[in-house]
Amino acid sequence: MVLIRCDRCDKSIEIDRAVVGLKVECPHCGDINVLRAVAGESGTPDRAAQAGLPPARGPEVDVLVLRPAFFRSRPVAALLVFAATLGGLVGGVLLWATPLGWASLAVAGAGCVVLAVWKVLCLGSGIRITTKRVIDVEGLLSKKTSEVLHTDIKNIRVTQTFWNRVMGVGTIVISSAAENEDAVELAGTPHPERAKQTIDLYRPL
Ligand SMILES: [Zn+2]
Repeated sequence: MVLIRCDRCDKSIEIDRAVVGLKVECPHCGDINVLRAVAGESGTPDRAAQAGLPPARGPEVDVLVLRPAFFRSRPVAALLVFAATLGGLVGGVLLWATPLGWASLAVAGAGCVVLAVWKVLCLGSGIRITTKRVIDVEGLLSKKTSEVLHTDIKNIRVTQTFWNRVMGVGTIVISSAAENEDAVELAGTPHPERAKQTIDLYRPL
């Protein structure tokens, strides 16, 4: 499968095989697109395949799924919540059946809720890197997703604070040159540089 972009409505169209001169009717707006050049047929080697990853020219498959690191993306906050939960439990046992004991158990309970919600948020968000595009998964509750085709990527930016660097995480922002595509962004990504290098293998550079 090959993805091309409609030159009238800018939406992506899936075709089986890209051949120069092929006329493709856009399923979104009905415009006839004529393929003038076929990407990846200029004799350049498939860098992704050379690196042992799924080939860029084959069918679209997942290459990498990134989720925010649960602990490493916010180590200080995580430690505080863990400490409060543990302290609440210990206090609750030591001061059993006293007002202070109940207060301690309430703190422990709140800590557990925070950790659970946090874990669910981490599991629900992320980005999927396929051989053709980067897809932003916005969360379990919201259905909004955005995507950027590798061929449209304008820039990939990795930013890391000092603590991010210590913990090996960072924020990755993938901006698109196409008007109708939003940037895809993920904070707290483990190994952000490796993710950037992986995407670079599928981009025309
Ligand atoms: Zn169209």
